[in-house]
Amino acid sequence: MIAFVIIFGILAIGVVLVVHGTVVKNRWGVNLGPVYCPHCKTPFPMVRKPQSLSQAMWGGSTCRVCGTEADKWGREVASPARFQNERSSR
Ligand SMILES: [Zn+2]
Repeated sequence: MIAFVIIFGILAIGVVLVVHGTVVKNRWGVNLGPVYCPHCKTPFPMVRKPQSLSQAMWGGSTCRVCGTEADKWGREVASPARFQNERSSR
């Protein structure tokens, strides 16, 4: 019974993280809409090829036209690799 409560609690936390992340557009969110390059407005392909570990984990793409790296919300990634220092852009 305790194991069930723990598993259910972890699942609930995961759901809250994803829903909250989708609302505030952080890396936990799920973006099902189209994403465009922040510089040249080229649409990113729906099936993406991750260029780095953080892109594989958190989403995001590198523009094949101008090379700009953007997250899965189409926002430019200023400094790749240090995503734990991610500044809030609000
Ligand atoms: Zn571009």
